[in-house]
Order: sequence, then C-alpha cells, then structure tokens
Amino acid sequence: MIDAIYFDGISARRHPVTLMLHKGVAAFHGEEVRRSIKLSRLDISERLAHAPRLLRMPDGACLEVNDPGLDRLLRANGYRDPWVVRWQQNWPLSLFALVSLLAALIAGYQWGLPWAADNFAQHLPASIEKKIGEGQMTLIDERYMQASKLDPAEQVRLRRMFAKLQQPYGEKVDYRLEFRDSRIGPNAFALPNGVIVMTDQLVQLAQDDRAVMAVLGHELGHLHRRHSLRRLLQAAGVGVVMHMFIGDVSSALAALPTFLIDQKYSRDFEREADQYAIEMMQANEVPLSPMADLFVKMGEARSANRHASAEAGEDDADDEDEEEAPVNRRGSKQRNTWLDYMSSHPSDDERIARLKAADDGK
Ligand SMILES: [Zn+2]
Repeated sequence: MIDAIYFDGISARRHPVTLMLHKGVAAFHGEEVRRSIKLSRLDISERLAHAPRLLRMPDGACLEVNDPGLDRLLRANGYRDPWVVRWQQNWPLSLFALVSLLAALIAGYQWGLPWAADNFAQHLPASIEKKIGEGQMTLIDERYMQASKLDPAEQVRLRRMFAKLQQPYGEKVDYRLEFRDSRIGPNAFALPNGVIVMTDQLVQLAQDDRAVMAVLGHELGHLHRRHSLRRLLQAAGVGVVMHMFIGDVSSALAALPTFLIDQKYSRDFEREADQYAIEMMQANEVPLSPMADLFVKMGEARSANRHASAEAGEDDADDEDEEEAPVNRRGSKQRNTWLDYMSSHPSDDERIARLKAADDGK
C-alpha cells in the first residue's frame, strides 16, 4: 500500500488516498472516494528522476504518486515501461540508438538518396525531363555559349555521320545534336531532354571524325542511362524536382546551380558511358584510340593553359575550387576559366588505357 493523491478530473481538489495494486487491478480509497480500475486501462506516465508519476484514467480522473515504491508494485503486477522509456534510462542503449541513427542517416545519404533518385528518374514523365533540359539549355546558352561558328555543311556532315552509326544494345536512344561556340573550351555534354551539346572547340581540337564520333557515343551512353537526370536528382534532391511538378519551373531552375557543364559524374557513370561508346564504336568498326588521343591532347592543353594563367600572375592557388564551382566564380574575377571536358570527366590514365585496350581486344 502506498500513498497517492486523487484528482477527479473535474475540480482541482486533492484527495489523499491509499493505493493498492493487486492482480492487475489498482484499487484506492480515501475519505470521499473509493475506486478500482484495471491496470491495463491506466495511462501511466514515464518514470523521471524527481517528478511524481501520473496514472490517468479514461474518464479524466488521475492519480499522482510520489512514492518510489510504485515501480516495484507495477513490476509485481506485470507492468513494463515501454521500450523507448527503458532505452532512455539505459545509457549504453541510448548511445547505441544514437550511433544507429547516425549510421542510418549516413547510409541514407550514401545509398538511399541515389537509389531514390534513380527510381524517381525512371518514373519521371518525359515532359518534365524536357522542361528541365530546355531550362538548362537556356541557362547555358545565356552564360557560356554562342551560336556555332562551324561551317553549316560541316555540322550536317557530322550529324549525318553519327546518325548513320548503329546504336548498341538493340535500343534506339533519341537525341538531338547541337553545336555551340563556347568560351569554356572543348566540351560535350548531354541534357535530360536528349540534347547533346558539342562545342566547336572540341571538334577543332579533335581534328579527327573518329574521336568526335566516340565522344558523341559516350554522351549518348549518358543519355541511355539517364545519368544527367539521376545526377541532377542526387544533387538537387527529389524535392526540387517535385517542385517542378507543381510550381514554376523557371524559378526552380534558377535556384539550381548550373552544374551541368561542370557536371561531375560519378566514376561508375563514366565507366558506363565509356562502355557504351566502346560497344557502339566497335559495332561500327570505329577505333577508340582517337578518342583516347583526344583526351591526352585535352590534358596537355589544359595544363598548358593553367601554366599560362599562373605566369600571367593570376592567383592559381585554389585551382581545386575552380573545378568545384566555376559558375560561382564567374563575375567575381574574370579569369581564364578552363572548363573543359577533362574537368567534368575526370580522365585518368586508366580510362585512356581502357579505351586503347578496346581496340586491341577486337
Ligand atoms: Zn561522361
């Protein structure tokens, strides 16, 4: 038997009572009150260090218990604290819960987000992809590109040449090839709406149709696997794209970094796109070494350009930043930003070797 205070739930009056717990039933009596109620019908507040516990009844009445003996009585009657409460009162378990939560968050970021982005990308209506791509093209045109200065006949010739090539995996990927004169150097990229952009500077640097075809094949590979959209979703989050469903697309796009030309695909994406290019070129008996040679040329041109920048007295110390955020950098300091295919396509010796090996493997 322990002491308790009874409140009837109507008035604020305190009724001192004596409480007994027996066989799953709580019974209490005082001067003006005598009640019994099943333990299972009570809502029992959690145990806190210095606060009384409350036993609430369905009709709003309530018992306030200060006696720590209540714990023992409750246990003897088969009552157990909810598991959350038990965990809270056990610090190793609390620590474990915290670490688990952190692990879940990290795993969610590492695998869950790409997974959600990929799934979302597979089910995004084509109309949304079209809007995203068009918005990005407009932005890129405004900031970085001008109409191509390539001879129109040359453009037609390259378009036809690529269109004649057979696509691998027996699937036809729709695309539209656009040429642009750019102030960001040799570059090529694929937008979610199926537009492949190639800069005049890349065509000029390549000096070889076979290299141009292989780079286009690589970009078609990105389209085939929807890399651009998946990367966008991973970077921007599904929320931004959801906003495009319901809201004004242009405002959503304005909020996005124009990361596309600086698009850093994951190595896996690059490998997939390279593999696509390899399959496509082999099916059409186009060698891959010219593409590898083009990459080498780009690498050389790039370091030469960096060197020139450094000699011109420009602050070249934070070059890494330049690669991360070329867009932000624009305007703050008009420097010779060498944004090229190499910076968005981390091109290592391994990759070049793989392309060359594809020729030998035939
Ligand atoms: Zn790529």
